[in-house]
Amino acid sequence: MEPAAYSCRHCCTQYKLVRQEAPPDRNREIACLSCRAPLESREGKFVLKYFRVRRPEGGASFKVPH
Ligand SMILES: [Zn+2]
Repeated sequence: MEPAAYSCRHCCTQYKLVRQEAPPDRNREIACLSCRAPLESREGKFVLKYFRVRRPEGGASFKVPH
């Protein structure tokens, strides 16, 4: 399924949102990686998975020499 764009309502951190079919007993809390605000973890029969999108200008993890 196509990932959807999602941004946290509280801190605007960007995520890719992927829905996965899962049995209804798999219910776990998901929180924003930046501000710890709770995120929707289910949508009907789907569980929602969030993948944080890195901002291109914030590349502090390693430097590419020019
Ligand atoms: Zn947030």
